[in-house]
Amino acid sequence: MKAKRCYFDYAASTPVDPAVEKAMKPYWSGVFGNPGALHSFGQEASAAVFKARDLVAKALGCDYKEIVFTGSATEANNLALRGVVKRIMNKELRIKGEKRNSIIHDSKFIIPKIIVSAIEHESVLDTARDLEREGVEVVYLPVSKKGIVDLKALEGELDERTILVSVMYANNEIGTIQPIAEIANMIRNFRNSKHEARNSKQTQNYKNKIQNVSDFDIRISNFETMRPLFHCDAVQAFNYLPCKVDELGIDLLTLSSQKIYGPKGVGLLYIRRSTKHEARSTKQIQNSKSQNVSNFDIRISDLQLVSPIVTGGGQEFGFRSGTENVPGIVGFAKAMEIAEKLRNSENKRLSKLRDYFISRLKKKIPKAQLNGGLKKRLPNNINIHIPGVIGQELIIKLDLAGFAVSPGSACSARVCKPSHVLKAMGSPDGRAANSLRVSFGRGTKKRDMDKLLRAVVSLV
Ligand code: PLP
Repeated sequence: MKAKRCYFDYAASTPVDPAVEKAMKPYWSGVFGNPGALHSFGQEASAAVFKARDLVAKALGCDYKEIVFTGSATEANNLALRGVVKRIMNKELRIKGEKRNSIIHDSKFIIPKIIVSAIEHESVLDTARDLEREGVEVVYLPVSKKGIVDLKALEGELDERTILVSVMYANNEIGTIQPIAEIANMIRNFRNSKHEARNSKQTQNYKNKIQNVSDFDIRISNFETMRPLFHCDAVQAFNYLPCKVDELGIDLLTLSSQKIYGPKGVGLLYIRRSTKHEARSTKQIQNSKSQNVSNFDIRISDLQLVSPIVTGGGQEFGFRSGTENVPGIVGFAKAMEIAEKLRNSENKRLSKLRDYFISRLKKKIPKAQLNGGLKKRLPNNINIHIPGVIGQELIIKLDLAGFAVSPGSACSARVCKPSHVLKAMGSPDGRAANSLRVSFGRGTKKRDMDKLLRAVVSLV
């Protein structure tokens, strides 16, 4: 009889929770209408999507209109990066009637800049590289030896040209957790200082009764003070870390259903509505401008943060066209509900398993090295390098023995290259190409960790 296989690749994908499967069941062939249709079949499907969106919004602490369902986290990351760049180009060039790859600052054209951490998932990095080819400047933020983003470097890079900062919540290869609230705070302070400078300049202009400050100038300057936006890829984090967007101070947030025991083929992007900031800046300008406010009108749509990259029927509030994946969306919402409930207990349970495995492994194979620090790390991630051991060989042998682990790098059936994450942390190529990621989850018991440990020790 074939021995039971053990799955240690939860960071790549998770099994669908039975309760999620049950919640999805009515929406395959029972309630199958197009949610955009006017008849009752369509309205039933639309109600299900609405309910799911509401649940998701509650889990993130935001408005339901701020949730945009996509086909994957990769698509959500694309929408965040490309959508912000497109929005800014479209808006400013449309107003000014120009066609150039640049944005306007103080009536001058400048190249927009985005900042991403060097250890982002490929769906962010490859998109950033593509935008670079289109003329956007991209800064790749360095990380420490333990895999934490260099905040000083970020502070030094923030300037008038910066339109977006994208830093992931937790890394998919080494599980390191980034100081998201601190980064958000830094960005907020930067935006406020910009805003104050701009505001006092406008006040001065009005006080001096300079009449040539147009609506266009005001709208542009308000749009500018909302930059840079802060995007966070929280795909690996949602199972274990708090994800209320206001507490974190995030403008855009990516999630994936398949990483939280939901179905494949659904992701989402949270897109902050800019009304709060807009209300404040409008009031400040009105105060300084007194009687001249009548023609002053910043429309909410002008301050929309992102332009769609998939156009068509206008679903998802116009941010992502295409008929909604109704069963997927229902399942995703249910998966989020369950993940939130289990967050604390699973965090504790898995942290113990992680620490147990690492300490036992170090005893048995003292030369084994942990990639990334242990302190700020996801509870379900172990990433190790064993000098002298070829990573891929060990993975294949473990697979034959019934253990599914993953290479520490972006290695798949399609490509295999040294980990860009480990390289960014300063690891030499040998280590970056020969590490092992063990990621576990709800189905993992201590006995599974023991079995894997025995297998690794005997194979090494
Ligand atoms: N972001 C992170 C951090 C991930 O780990 C992944 C997948 O591993 C993605 C984005 C992309 O997710 P998907 O393949 O579901 O689009």
